[in-house]
Amino acid sequence: MKKTIPIVSLLFCWLAALPLFAQVKGQDLLDPTAIDTTVRPQDDFFTYANGGWIKRTVIPADLQAWGGAVTLQLESLANIRRMLDSLSRQTGLIRGTIEQQVADLYSACMDSAASEGRGWAALRHYLSRIDAVKDVPGLLREIATEKTEGNMRLFVIRADADDKNSQWEMARFEQGSLGLPSRDYYFNEDTSLVKFRLAYRDYIAKILMLDGEAGPRAREDAAAVVRTESQIARISRTAVALRDMKANYHKLSVKALDRLTPGFRWEDFLTELHIRQDTLIMGQPEFFAGLCRALQTVPVSDWKLYLKFHLLDYYGTFMGGRFTAVQSSFDRLLYGLNQSMSRWELAVFQVNSFLPDAVGQLYVKQYFPPEAKQRILEMTVQLQAAFAARIRSLDWMSDTTKQKALAKLNAIVKKIGYPDRWQDYSSIEIDRSDMINNAVNCKKYAYRRMIDKLGKPVDHSIWQSAGNYSMTPTTVDGDYNRTTNEIIFPAAILQPPFFYKEGDDAVNFAGIGFVIGHEITHGFDDKGSQYDANGNMVNWWTRADSTRFREKADQLVRHYGHYMEIDTFHVDGRLTLGENIADLGGLSVAYDAFKQTPEGRDTARIYGLTPEQRFFMAFARMMSVKSSPEWVRIIRLSDEHSPFEVRVDAVLSNLDAFYSAFGLSPADKMYQPDSLRVHIW
Ligand SMILES: [Zn+2]
Repeated sequence: MKKTIPIVSLLFCWLAALPLFAQVKGQDLLDPTAIDTTVRPQDDFFTYANGGWIKRTVIPADLQAWGGAVTLQLESLANIRRMLDSLSRQTGLIRGTIEQQVADLYSACMDSAASEGRGWAALRHYLSRIDAVKDVPGLLREIATEKTEGNMRLFVIRADADDKNSQWEMARFEQGSLGLPSRDYYFNEDTSLVKFRLAYRDYIAKILMLDGEAGPRAREDAAAVVRTESQIARISRTAVALRDMKANYHKLSVKALDRLTPGFRWEDFLTELHIRQDTLIMGQPEFFAGLCRALQTVPVSDWKLYLKFHLLDYYGTFMGGRFTAVQSSFDRLLYGLNQSMSRWELAVFQVNSFLPDAVGQLYVKQYFPPEAKQRILEMTVQLQAAFAARIRSLDWMSDTTKQKALAKLNAIVKKIGYPDRWQDYSSIEIDRSDMINNAVNCKKYAYRRMIDKLGKPVDHSIWQSAGNYSMTPTTVDGDYNRTTNEIIFPAAILQPPFFYKEGDDAVNFAGIGFVIGHEITHGFDDKGSQYDANGNMVNWWTRADSTRFREKADQLVRHYGHYMEIDTFHVDGRLTLGENIADLGGLSVAYDAFKQTPEGRDTARIYGLTPEQRFFMAFARMMSVKSSPEWVRIIRLSDEHSPFEVRVDAVLSNLDAFYSAFGLSPADKMYQPDSLRVHIW
């Protein structure tokens, strides 16, 4: 779901950050009041390190979680808000400059009364287009037009490097997101999910009523929308199935596509989409075959209701007033919130997502000192060296595969802070009083830019999005991109309280050092390991090494599967495998790099803790996020990360260095016999 765009619904690749009380040198990160002294560190390290803080922390009423990354992200939003507030008060900004664009977009978004008034006038144009649809060809034209306006509901089109020829951009078609958080919500009879299905139907009816439908009719129409979406849900792959890279790559010619979807002419459809390619990559061919069947069997009138609801739902986000009231109340129910996100948070979020390079340029000038970039670059080199040493000493991998792994590691491109080249937004028309058209103009620009890339060499000077997830300079996160073999660390993550220029090495290596290690390890997780140094999906492993890697991965799947997630549900070790491998590798390599620093080699204690103990404490404190149970229930089915407490305890119970730092013995709950400890990278 988007709508009020809950902060933590953003998919972090590493999802962690230092708590706010961490001070220069990082000693206060070891604030004794955060500790729960009733728990032994050897039994449950996460609760030992964070239990005091968890007990006294109340999650803010408009959020699903608090602490760590969430806190840091809100700080970043507040910084952007200060910038935008000040710009929007300035007069005489020159039209077409990024200052004018972000200031006017922000003002338009903040003015909810005007947004609703003018919004309806703008919406009529789009609604009447749907009304005019009479048949399946008309339906396809409408769907195609909405795609060019950036509506990626139903299915997604992306320009992405070809996984098997990574220097070239190809059009990629993927199954899209659903109105409810995941496919299980549509047909799983678990009472906790049925409740949301019914609430979703009521919500659709309320949105349709805002457009003037009478109550009984709106409820019937809402049932039709849910029926149509349930069909789409049934043909959608599960989150686990989407993790299989080979099974989600199908290069197909237009002729082959026509055979896949009888009665559907791809050439015509691609023309409507302005795509002039004779070959596409399909993520899930059976999804598109099923969708084409549904387009012919579900009544056109039902499809029109589906399009109408999602159009209202999407543009309603920008309208404020009655739309906000209806959307917020559904979000509060779905996410278990007591209060909705404030208008300024929403406005900052939207400006940042529509004009990321404009906000990024302004942000970097104000908040990103050049020395931070230099220091992170140095740390990345240190982490890479530590990773190389680990590869060389692996006891389960042959020299042949080791050489290939080292070549891939050394070829990793580092992108830090902001892109080398900014996007030119000067052609986008932004008006201070017309939020809906602003949104459409930005989306159309993004679509045109995407289509322009097709069939051309991959441009390495910009930040490529990894899948559906785009990195911007203000993103509080890190990323690894398989087809470009690059790691990205945006400006927003490279500063206090996350990274301390003068900080204790134990804190910085357990913090940003871990994140760097985590992203590098993604190049060697269950998905990344299928791509070579040039970002091509080719097998560079010997058969025996590949088998041993899979055995180790399976061992990790079983290990994480023992932990409880919520209620009676265990962690899904398959869904979270890539992130768990990255956590395990990331912390191992960060620890090794830390041990190479003067503080890592020292024995001086701070707050009575050895350097090794401080490293593990800092790591656990960085992960101190308190999440609401409602939120955990929602992300359980789709989030590829394990819950925070599991991310800490499961990784540490596989790390020999943790055993020595805290003196674990077989009687301790976190103790795993040597034969069960998983060491991969
Ligand atoms: Zn990750």
